[in-house]
Amino acid sequence: MSQFDLVILGGGSGGYAAALRGAQLGLSVALIEADKVGGTCLHRGCIPTKALLHAAEIADGAREGSHFGVKSTFDGMDMAGVNSYKDGVINKLHKGLAGLVKSRNITYIEGYGKLVSKDTVEVNGTRYTGKNVILATGSYAKTLPGLEIDGEKIITSDHGTKMSYVPKSVIVLGGGVIGCEFASVWKSFGSEVTIIEGLPHLIALEDESSSKQLERAFRKRGINFELGVRFKSATKSADGVTVTLEDGKTFTAEILMVSVGRGPVSANLGYEEQGVAMDRGYVLVDDKCRTNVPGIWAVGDLIPTLQLAHVGFAEGILVAEEIAGLNPRAINYDGIPRVTYSDPEVASVGLTTAEAKKRGHEVVELSYDLAGNGKAQILNTAGSIKLVSQKDGPVLGIHMVGARVGELLAEAELIYNWEARASDVAPLIHAHPTLSEAMGEAHMALAGKPLHAHG
Ligand SMILES: Cc1cc2nc3c(=O)[nH]c(=O)nc-3n(C[C@H](O)[C@H](O)[C@H](O)COP(=O)(O)OP(=O)(O)OC[C@H]3O[C@@H](n4cnc5c(N)ncnc54)[C@H](O)[C@@H]3O)c2cc1C
Repeated sequence: MSQFDLVILGGGSGGYAAALRGAQLGLSVALIEADKVGGTCLHRGCIPTKALLHAAEIADGAREGSHFGVKSTFDGMDMAGVNSYKDGVINKLHKGLAGLVKSRNITYIEGYGKLVSKDTVEVNGTRYTGKNVILATGSYAKTLPGLEIDGEKIITSDHGTKMSYVPKSVIVLGGGVIGCEFASVWKSFGSEVTIIEGLPHLIALEDESSSKQLERAFRKRGINFELGVRFKSATKSADGVTVTLEDGKTFTAEILMVSVGRGPVSANLGYEEQGVAMDRGYVLVDDKCRTNVPGIWAVGDLIPTLQLAHVGFAEGILVAEEIAGLNPRAINYDGIPRVTYSDPEVASVGLTTAEAKKRGHEVVELSYDLAGNGKAQILNTAGSIKLVSQKDGPVLGIHMVGARVGELLAEAELIYNWEARASDVAPLIHAHPTLSEAMGEAHMALAGKPLHAHG
């Protein structure tokens, strides 16, 4: 039996971040991974989808060359080429990460682990005991009752990141972040796309104004969607898949991608047997990611916080630092930056208008249209930056739509997390011509001194 300060089950964003930080702080660390270090994010999530979205942007660039006076045509996708580019990125990052884990003297154990006592994980008959155990087994793509994933006609994002062809038509069931990103990719690749979403809006967790702008942009791009109506059934035929909605409408496409959310990977891993408190499969933790069992911690998609890679990183680091006695500050989840990397992008930090009002803030709002921004015109993108602010107080939320607005989040995040007021940001000088000028302009306008704004 091997003894460690830290035994980590799962080598995704949450688990490997805890391992790297723990080792850096002098803890002895065992990292157990059944598949590949890097987890969902690196192998079937963030990285592959963003590579596909970049290929999609190039495809649109080829199509739209004439708008910029460039002679170019879009002749179609070469999916073997797309996959080789995408896999090249993944393999390089995977190699780098595996090397990093090795160089930090982390004991890396390949295999499927199970919690067999409060301080021990067993892998292939060998037991690894830790003064602390971190559960970081992540999440899986969910489906709906009666909707069986066959990996060919009815798929999840796991299959969507590895397609060898461009489907003629796709139904995307679920208009959240993952669904909208895939819809965007496939439309650019040349598919007919229909999104079906039971809630009244796409990316319904975002500020309603952002959802509406994305819907407008998708409509303009010819991406179809049905909102506020629930899925009833799907049947497969030689032609593809026919989906029936509860209002009786039917849609047929070559494939159906199910993107109705992700559930925690926690079944049959010994968590319940060891008395770890759970809710619908999620492991429950306090604000330092401690479970109810002393010495057992949990991070990432396995716990009911935002399912994002950088949240997993932050939680992994938090736990390692807490164990090492650094007493880190708990995470303010409102201050986590969020991006939907579709065309156009949607990015936000802080509270939506609805949430700010719900929490009792007296809210003022300002929306700066990217039509007034030089770089946005050069890029030929539409969108806006919306500020939600407390009256005579700090900025409570920043909500952006437009090409590349995800890159503006770094500043938005500082503004929100440092509780800046519009008048603090207004004097900061932004380089011209950049999209970031729109951030400056929005705050100037909210501070009562608009420059490039009509009305
Ligand atoms: C299509 C898609 C796109 C995404 N895009 C983004 C994005 O752009 N930005 C973003 O921030 N987030 C994105 N995410 C979310 C992000 O991937 C997750 O939030 C993140 O991977 C969660 O990290 P984790 O460590 O909790 O879990 P995971 O990354 O799922 O890692 C868990 C690991 O545990 C291993 N494991 C599970 N059980 C065992 C066991 N019993 N024994 C040993 N090992 C085990 C698994 O093999 C896996 O490697 C995306 C997700 C998807 C699906």
